[in-house]
Amino acid sequence: MAADLPNGGSSTEKYSRQTLFAPLGERGQRRLMSSRAVIVGCGALGSFHASALARAGVGELILIDRDYVEESNLQRQWLYDESDAREGLPKAIAAERKLRAVNSEISVTGIVTDVDATNVERLIKDADVILDGSDNFAVRYLVNEAAVKNSIPWIYGAAVGSYGVTATILPGRTPCLACLLPDVPGGAQPTCDTAGILNVAASAVASFQVANALKILSGQSEAVEPRLLTLDVWQGSPRSIGVGDPDPECRVCAHHEFNLLDAAGTRPGTILCGRNAIQVSGDSPIDIEILATRLGTLGEVRANEYALRFVTPPYEMTIFVDGRAIIKGTDDPAKARSLYSRFLGR
Ligand SMILES: [Zn+2]
Repeated sequence: MAADLPNGGSSTEKYSRQTLFAPLGERGQRRLMSSRAVIVGCGALGSFHASALARAGVGELILIDRDYVEESNLQRQWLYDESDAREGLPKAIAAERKLRAVNSEISVTGIVTDVDATNVERLIKDADVILDGSDNFAVRYLVNEAAVKNSIPWIYGAAVGSYGVTATILPGRTPCLACLLPDVPGGAQPTCDTAGILNVAASAVASFQVANALKILSGQSEAVEPRLLTLDVWQGSPRSIGVGDPDPECRVCAHHEFNLLDAAGTRPGTILCGRNAIQVSGDSPIDIEILATRLGTLGEVRANEYALRFVTPPYEMTIFVDGRAIIKGTDDPAKARSLYSRFLGR
């Protein structure tokens, strides 16, 4: 009986199966439609978050990712297809395009950038919730500080192999990431590049993240339990552990020491990202067309308006408009830096 419902038109029909779900209802739906979510990282977790929240009618989505679509992503990164990988589209841009076609009533903005201490607060400051779709602890601890400082709920999530973990951080009410894990986990952590991943391990974790995001965005934060959820889709063993109250001695949420944010002037020049790849940060924007012409004489070049791919075996460089580059074919930061200088002249 769409005609009896207040919103009228297509949105009523669009969300009818969701508003029938009593804990959300019409009222919760209206709040979702005027809310804003920021998704940090648009890989396996983030592309699922983005798709689910767009379909649920969350009014504004900000999608942040530093990377471009590759063929090895398609197994688990739900939003992308072979043409995105062929074009080498940045994930944030590919995701934005896809979601515009999924739901034209919401605002979707893809931002191609690397989240770091210099930009994180600006990127998240207007969010009603932040979803963690990142793949590393450096970004998570940074987001944790920014979220606590600005009192924004954020939802940690990670998946590798058949295993996943998630916890929702409501600043001031539930333990923050630094309460739960005071130190960055040491040693070599298994990653999707070394231990592999089942696509449903990622979507299972992402589903729990999205469910809590929907509670928060529909005005029902009190329904979020202070729990750490772990699950293994291969063994079929979900476990939920109560995490109690925030640590009264926590550096971040109790003492408000934001050491990572305060280090904003010291942006690292290079970051290891994945297996056999290094990211080199750029200082200023580049002109893709001019660079494409210059590099075209030296190797294979493919470019679009967002990024340029340059292949000079055994290396493959992807250079983004902001001057940042991801260099595949080396684990050596000095080598990556020197390739960057050699081909970009800076
Ligand atoms: Zn804390």
